[in-house]
Amino acid sequence: MTNKQVETKEFQTEIRQLLDIVINSLYTDRDIFLRELISNAADATEKLRYCKLTENEIIDPERPLEILIDTDEDAHTLTIADNGIGMTKEELIENLGTIAHSGSKEFIRQLAEVKKGSEGSPDLSLIGQFGVGFYSAFMVAEKVTLYTRSFRPESESWIWTSDGTGSYTLEKGDHENSGTRIVLSLKEDAYNYSKADNIQRIIKQYSSFVPFPIKVNGEKANTVEAIWTKNTSEISEQEYTDFYKYIANAYDEPTYKLHFSSDAPLSIKALLYVPGENYERLGLNRLERGVNLFCKKVLIQEKSEAIVPEWLRFVHGVIDSEELPLNISRETLQDNALVSKLNRVVTARFLKFLEEQAKDNYTKYNEFWNKFKHFLKEGAATDFTHKDALIKLLRYESNMTGEGELISLDAYVERMKEDQKAIYYISGSNREVIESGPYLEIFKDKGIEVLYTYEPIDDYILDNLHEYKDKKVVAAEQDSEDLPDLNVDEQRTLEEEIPQDEMNSVIEWFKETLGTRVTEVRISKRLVDSPAVVLSSYGTHSMQKMMQMMTKDQGSVPPGILELNSKHPVIKGINELHKAKDPFAAAAAEQVLENAQIAAGLIVDPRGMVNRLYNILERAVTQR
Ligand code: ADP
Ligand code: MG
Repeated sequence: MTNKQVETKEFQTEIRQLLDIVINSLYTDRDIFLRELISNAADATEKLRYCKLTENEIIDPERPLEILIDTDEDAHTLTIADNGIGMTKEELIENLGTIAHSGSKEFIRQLAEVKKGSEGSPDLSLIGQFGVGFYSAFMVAEKVTLYTRSFRPESESWIWTSDGTGSYTLEKGDHENSGTRIVLSLKEDAYNYSKADNIQRIIKQYSSFVPFPIKVNGEKANTVEAIWTKNTSEISEQEYTDFYKYIANAYDEPTYKLHFSSDAPLSIKALLYVPGENYERLGLNRLERGVNLFCKKVLIQEKSEAIVPEWLRFVHGVIDSEELPLNISRETLQDNALVSKLNRVVTARFLKFLEEQAKDNYTKYNEFWNKFKHFLKEGAATDFTHKDALIKLLRYESNMTGEGELISLDAYVERMKEDQKAIYYISGSNREVIESGPYLEIFKDKGIEVLYTYEPIDDYILDNLHEYKDKKVVAAEQDSEDLPDLNVDEQRTLEEEIPQDEMNSVIEWFKETLGTRVTEVRISKRLVDSPAVVLSSYGTHSMQKMMQMMTKDQGSVPPGILELNSKHPVIKGINELHKAKDPFAAAAAEQVLENAQIAAGLIVDPRGMVNRLYNILERAVTQR
């Protein structure tokens, strides 16, 4: 027997500070310590796997790569063992006694400040993200004993112990296995971590996709493989679907699946799913992000808000990039340049995928569109980075499609008339409303296609687009020079027009009568069957309507331009009344304006209108 010599060593100042905080804080989530220790074990195992490929001299090359966890409820211990690379004495001192990283030091300094201040307990969930995850063991353990031996043949066994109060001990061990075994003697208030089912639960939550078997008391606890790292050809459709159900916690079949890997510009392995159903649409809660971020199969962040844009929250899946540092701060992922780049690259790839799907299978894409369109619209309205790709994915009905038949802006542009000045759209709550309104008349008359927009967000997107493929994008209800006009020779000669001078005078009178409710009154060049139309001088009507609803100022319609059809019997009749100085003309003029506003989908205060309409009715029924 050799005389065992125990060395006692002081922790570096920063680590002492950190341990003081770890031991003496209130915790919001202690479970994370297990994720940290498993992540270290997986790291060490992954490194050994690599060394096995590149080096010959390894102790026990036949030992399986696995992580063994044992619980002992009687002794109140939890043991985490790996067959990874282990540590030499020098490595132990360096890795578990000192901190080199300035980022880690800064993190500890900030923790200490919070601790000193009155703001309550510091957030220890960041611990693993600053390269000091190991010390989270002291959240649950009053004593940590670590047995380790490096995988190199000439290496010695070492035992490291600490109670976390300032120092640790080192002594030679006599175990033969390479790798590391950590025994946690649990604090009294942490005894539940010696219960196997609790440990299994935490493993499912944080470490399911660790690529090595994790066994709890000999029983495998992680069932799911890291299938995203396999080749597409090695995975069956059933496996893909099972994996979707597992990560999305879903029972439906996915609509789409995108599995790709790339090396440039970044090394990425991604497996993304569009679910079968959109639960947000069904009135359930707003979805959380559904993509998990991995680095070499180790979970960095579940439901990561940093890795996909918010409007992609309907997508479930995994993004794995080995370029991420494993101990990247989960809290600062959002500000990490590499993560932002991953986000951009993957999102662009996903949008390209959707575009291909739309080309490949029109019917399936339409089904997808009908369920998930509001996410894509949200993206098109808010995400400048991906706007162009998103615009290509938008779909609309038009006056030239049947109901439910959808076209893209590209398809619209392709079949535009040669002399057509712009891309046109008309808003309305549904097809019938648009087709019975005055705005479509000129387009119907001239055989020009107009997109139908049923939601204010559609108008917002198109209004902000201004141009697409060098064509202006114009709302049919907007005052624009790019709206089509009826040419003189096309104008209908069936009906007599009000003479120009009389028309000028009646227009002046309309202006006086309607006052601030109109910005302008003029002869329309685009009405065929309706007496009048209002054009919006700013924004579209649906935007105005939204403003009205938001301000709850439903009585006052913002002033617009009133255009009159000088061939229409109603306008002609008003002209005659005006010439005869009949006061009834004013009531008729007001009603024309409000009818046009209603046709525009604006909210008109009905109170004044009802009395006026009775007056008009009275006159109509008594004069026959
Ligand atoms: P990080 O994992 O971010 O480096 P940790 O505090 O979790 O920070 O671990 C510190 C270091 O200790 C690791 O980088 C590694 O070198 C070493 N280490 C921890 N656990 C093990 C283990 N199970 N096997 C081998 N080395 C380990
Ligand atoms: Mg770690």
